[in-house]
Amino acid sequence: MSRAIIHMFPCLTDNYGFLLHDPDSGLTASVDTPDAKEITAQCQDKGWTLTHVFNTHHHWDHTGGNLDLAAAYPGLEIIGPAHDAARIPGLTQGVRGGESFYFGPQKIEVIETPGHTTGHIIYYIPQASAAFVGDTLFKMGCGRLFEGSPQDMFDSLAKIAALPGETLLYCAHEYTLSNGRFALTVEPDNQDLITEITRAKALREQGKPTVPTQVKLEKAINPFMRAKTAQHLGDIRRAKDNF
Ligand code: ZN
Ligand code: FE
Repeated sequence: MSRAIIHMFPCLTDNYGFLLHDPDSGLTASVDTPDAKEITAQCQDKGWTLTHVFNTHHHWDHTGGNLDLAAAYPGLEIIGPAHDAARIPGLTQGVRGGESFYFGPQKIEVIETPGHTTGHIIYYIPQASAAFVGDTLFKMGCGRLFEGSPQDMFDSLAKIAALPGETLLYCAHEYTLSNGRFALTVEPDNQDLITEITRAKALREQGKPTVPTQVKLEKAINPFMRAKTAQHLGDIRRAKDNF
């Protein structure tokens, strides 16, 4: 079995688009659909035909391209949270936490991560040591609690923390520099955090992404991952919202 190829590209203001391609089966998935035009252009550029969409949650910058892509690619399979079936345009298959499915030979595990929205899910691909985490976790940060509680997000981040340390985490937005400024107010003496902020600044100055990040790194630098209790996480989240 060949390793799945992950192709990442910026789109909209600060979103990332992701194409997941399995060389053995020829299948190609778009993780979320921030911008149908850009996703189509990237597929054409790669010579890949889009066969699947994996939605993480219902927000427009993650599902807005679903219907246009379904029209452009007949038979497109749109997989997303069953919990949010009514809010995911064009959904063809709802999945739940604890379930897994196959994308060609690649096993994909679905993990429920409520908090940012109640139905948010992430996709973990053990063979690729990668997880697509949507708006649950960002480098040095986490998603806003639009629908869930601090306890929801605390439990969701604990699930990500339980993945193997090497796992690459593909976050859906480039928020690292602003997250880093805030994280420093929580842990001004965290040397790993200071080092990573310096690295992130250099990458951004060269126009390069700071995504993906890694489970073991986030455990060392992400103030939300490092919160000891749900209440502490809630306090940090409220401070970030007003930062
Ligand atoms: Zn969102
Ligand atoms: Fe988003």
